[in-house]
Amino acid sequence: MSCIFCSIAAGEIPSFKVYEDELVLAYLDINPFTRGHTLAIPKQHVAGLLDADDALLGEVIKRVKRVAAHLKAALPCDGFNILQNNGEAAGQTVRHLHFHIIPRYAGEPLEFKSHKGDMDELKKLADKLAFQS
Ligand code: 5GP
Ligand code: ZN
Repeated sequence: MSCIFCSIAAGEIPSFKVYEDELVLAYLDINPFTRGHTLAIPKQHVAGLLDADDALLGEVIKRVKRVAAHLKAALPCDGFNILQNNGEAAGQTVRHLHFHIIPRYAGEPLEFKSHKGDMDELKKLADKLAFQS
């Protein structure tokens, strides 16, 4: 089975990594909604929320919190949205569980719309944001 996020987790496809540990990888979305838009995934393939083992999910959400706290301080941003799509009808395009961490900036209206990412800008941002726990 080919899964693009499994390939990213395995390092076969490069990513702008923000955080990694034994269970979770977080990296910049290549077509961000806002500056610093990050995806957090379990390294293990799980298609969606309903397929996730509760123990794994508990570990993943703790990392989502840790990454969000880091982004808030390091970007910095004023707030953030967590988005997690399940199923085609809900807009899920990649069938590997992922949490969107979408930084928000005061005065910038809600616009859930991706923008073509500038690779040089994403590289610089990933270098600025990468952290270890
Ligand atoms: P979904 O719509 O499934 O919730 O979100 C999938 C997200 O993955 C989209 O925001 C899309 O921009 C992002 N994405 C798709 N392919 C890649 C990729 O190869 N690398 C990265 N970093 N993000 C990707
Ligand atoms: Zn996968």
